[in-house]
Amino acid sequence: MSTTPTGTRLPTETLVGTIVLTGTPVVPGAAVGPVVRPVGSVELPTTPGPFVPEDQRVAEKDRFTAAADAVAERLAARAAAATGVSAEVLNTTAQLARDRGLLSTVEQKIGEGASAEVATVAAAEQFVELFTSLGGVMAERATDVRDVRDRIVAELTGQGEPGVPAPETPSVLLADDLAPADTAGLDPTRIIALATRLGGATSHTAIIARQLGLPCVVGVGGLNDVPVGATVLVDGEQGTVTVDPDRAEAELRVRAAREAAAALATYRGPGTTRDGHRVQVLANVQDGAGARAAAKAHAEGVGLLRTELAFFGRTEEPSVKEQAEIYAGVFSAFPGGKVVLRTLDAGSDKPLPFATPPDEANPALGVRGLRTARRDPGLLTRQLDAVAEAARATTDTSPWVMAPMVATVAEAAEFAAQVRERGMVPGVMVEVPSVAVLADRFLEHLDFLSIGTNDLSQYTLAADRLSADLADLTDPWQPALLALVQATAAAGQRAGKPVGVCGEAAADPTLACVLVGMGISSLSCAASSVAGVGARLATVDLATCQRAAEVALAAADPASARAAVREVLAGA
Ligand code: PEP
Ligand code: MG
Repeated sequence: MSTTPTGTRLPTETLVGTIVLTGTPVVPGAAVGPVVRPVGSVELPTTPGPFVPEDQRVAEKDRFTAAADAVAERLAARAAAATGVSAEVLNTTAQLARDRGLLSTVEQKIGEGASAEVATVAAAEQFVELFTSLGGVMAERATDVRDVRDRIVAELTGQGEPGVPAPETPSVLLADDLAPADTAGLDPTRIIALATRLGGATSHTAIIARQLGLPCVVGVGGLNDVPVGATVLVDGEQGTVTVDPDRAEAELRVRAAREAAAALATYRGPGTTRDGHRVQVLANVQDGAGARAAAKAHAEGVGLLRTELAFFGRTEEPSVKEQAEIYAGVFSAFPGGKVVLRTLDAGSDKPLPFATPPDEANPALGVRGLRTARRDPGLLTRQLDAVAEAARATTDTSPWVMAPMVATVAEAAEFAAQVRERGMVPGVMVEVPSVAVLADRFLEHLDFLSIGTNDLSQYTLAADRLSADLADLTDPWQPALLALVQATAAAGQRAGKPVGVCGEAAADPTLACVLVGMGISSLSCAASSVAGVGARLATVDLATCQRAAEVALAAADPASARAAVREVLAGA
């Protein structure tokens, strides 16, 4: 099979009429069905339109307010009928339709003579530009703003509300990108899989698909050429969309994916391979509620507590007391169990106003993570005090505490001393390639390492982790990334110290086998992925994982690494 520059794999003789498009796999599973696409793309005004005379501007503002209210109310009603992340996403979009900043910008433009439609488009554009220039997770807010803009303009102009169809036959939804409110309202009995041309592994589409358990692939080149009604197979494990697949093969694949999903339901932990090699399967969480949900999902503990997310949107540093309460909530979800807390990773895609410099040209390479302590050492010491206080109050075990964005051995040694002073277990994240390269030397000062493959791939391949255009470079199966993981795991084994993986790579059940084969001792992923990873490991023995690691490391690119590993695992 040959590959075009856009990543489209072309058919060979054995796959006559079949085209395989590739993207980034985000939710495993497979489904086959006819293609549907979002309905009713809204026509936006393209010219400034007629000038609204002064005496009609109050009425024009009222017209806008009524439309924005109607949109917000509809979204809020859908939120009330939804649960979990879907409800949160719908509520967030509803709030945006009532956002004071957006509303006052629209009113200002109407005050200058623009019609309500034109003012809505112009104001939204201003916010899209702002969010896009902030980058990171903020850039993803641009999708929400465009969605709200389209809904308000549709309301103002009497066009049908844009959205996802509810087909009679279970269907596969293909789109350029999906608005959060659309994905949140999906009926999983009618839409059985998703694929988008844009969007990365952290996009709203991916988050909602994960919650609904819908097979999902994002960043798929060539998706626009697939016509509505064509039959496609979406394979969320392999990251492929097969157009006009061989029926029998597609059904086999769907059945295998269903069997794998059924096996998840019986997973109870703890994680081991089939031959009893222990691998802790832990969860990534951000607060006590997340930790309790992880315990219910049979995680053995927390492998990454992202403390900065508990303080998102705060303008002032939380007090030691408040921080201690939040950490205590997480420790008490796993009494006596393992909890790895990460000190603030403020900056870049997770800016915190009280810790992040506002004016950096290149925040991903700037003062983020542990580096914030250069400017304000008290931020780190107060946080460590809060962790120690929380641990004293709630657990007999010493928490493991790690620093993000560490680059030098000296930084790691100084951090370790501060953690040990407080009776806790020090480690660092491996996110910057320098740590993987010198892992032996880092481990002389630390008790463990935890590999953050999201950032390690970003910094190794020099590609923004949130860029859908570059998702092929930040693919965790990239050979250079795997080589650094392997080097780090080997250093851990030499030192007799644990090395875990807590980036998205750990959520991929197939890649999890490879990581275990390299000598990784724990895997930490979203709670919803714990059972998938644990159940997969239980089906393979350590020797097979080691063979899988060998073939993955020898592969030339992510696609051939996946194919070679699948073959090894299938033959075991
Ligand atoms: C990582 O970089 O892989 C990681 C786990 O940290 P975060 O995604 O929070 O940056
Ligand atoms: Mg990171």
